[in-house]
Amino acid sequence: MIVVMKVHAEQDEIDAVVQRIHKLGFNTHLSTGAERTIIGVVGADRRLEPMNFEVMAGVEKAVRVLHPFKIASRDFHPEDTVFEVHGVPIGGHHLTIMAGPCSVESREQLLETAAAVKEAGAQILRGGAYKPRTSPYSFQGLGLRGLEILAEARERYDMPVVTEVMSPDLVPLVAEYADMLQIGARSMQNYALLQAVGKVNKPVLLKRGMMSTMQEWLMAAEYILSNGNDRVALCERGIRTFEPYTRNTLDINAIPAMRNLTHLPIIGDPSHGTGKWELVGPIARAIIAAGANGLIIEVHPHPDEALSDGAQSLKPKRFAELMRNVHAIHDLLDHENIHDRETD
Ligand code: PEP
Ligand code: MN
Repeated sequence: MIVVMKVHAEQDEIDAVVQRIHKLGFNTHLSTGAERTIIGVVGADRRLEPMNFEVMAGVEKAVRVLHPFKIASRDFHPEDTVFEVHGVPIGGHHLTIMAGPCSVESREQLLETAAAVKEAGAQILRGGAYKPRTSPYSFQGLGLRGLEILAEARERYDMPVVTEVMSPDLVPLVAEYADMLQIGARSMQNYALLQAVGKVNKPVLLKRGMMSTMQEWLMAAEYILSNGNDRVALCERGIRTFEPYTRNTLDINAIPAMRNLTHLPIIGDPSHGTGKWELVGPIARAIIAAGANGLIIEVHPHPDEALSDGAQSLKPKRFAELMRNVHAIHDLLDHENIHDRETD
């Protein structure tokens, strides 16, 4: 249930509602907008009766939230969530570009790529130090050495870094080096990991599981949010379909659908969403046109030598061209009305 307070309700009216909910044994999560406060009841609240709250002073209405996700729901938090990753904003009208290699392979490779993507306008550097690989015989990432290289690039090019964390016990170490923690598609339903990143003070990029529905993905976000971390961005990276020509099928529907369902920023990943570098540009443009808040793109100076995902990596020159196009598309959009759910 959410309790929507009247515009400019008094603080003691808000407090009275919160206290009543706590007395009934539930937690609350407050969403304080420019005009009004919305109080969300956290927990299995089916036995609460909205009418009992509607009679309270300062309450506009109390409604049951139809979705099982609550803190993530736009009903509860009508305004877009905007947060910063070490000074770089994500969400709302901002266009946030993350780019870099799939894996950190060497110091030279990462520094060369970082310089190129920075020059082309990327704000956040990506690169995996711990890699979830289908085969145990494939390159698994440089681990701690990879994190150290990322930290060097971060300082040298003044770019925050996003990198994947695969297990709860590695969260403290990865959080020491990274500015944003990536939860990979294969880990989206690792609930122990979601709880662990929910407890750290670092933003999270939550990738959609390759066989997950939008609701399952939002429930994964809810795990992080309900553990206290409210800086979560969602990443659509393609789902598995019957089509083998592409590695995954980027679910373009998910972009506007998620913007309606949730206030959290949504980032598109055309690299994993297609698996083919020649499709990355067109799908990146479609992602932005569909209303996403940003992109995460794999870039490699020598894709044919990449230790992972070379086939979907752009060369720096093509990445720079793409940046010009996506900015032009983003500038054309009417950001005020991008998630307009009114029916008239
Ligand atoms: C990656 O970002 O390199 C990656 C492994 O992505 P995903 O988890 O979406 O497959
Ligand atoms: Mn990859």
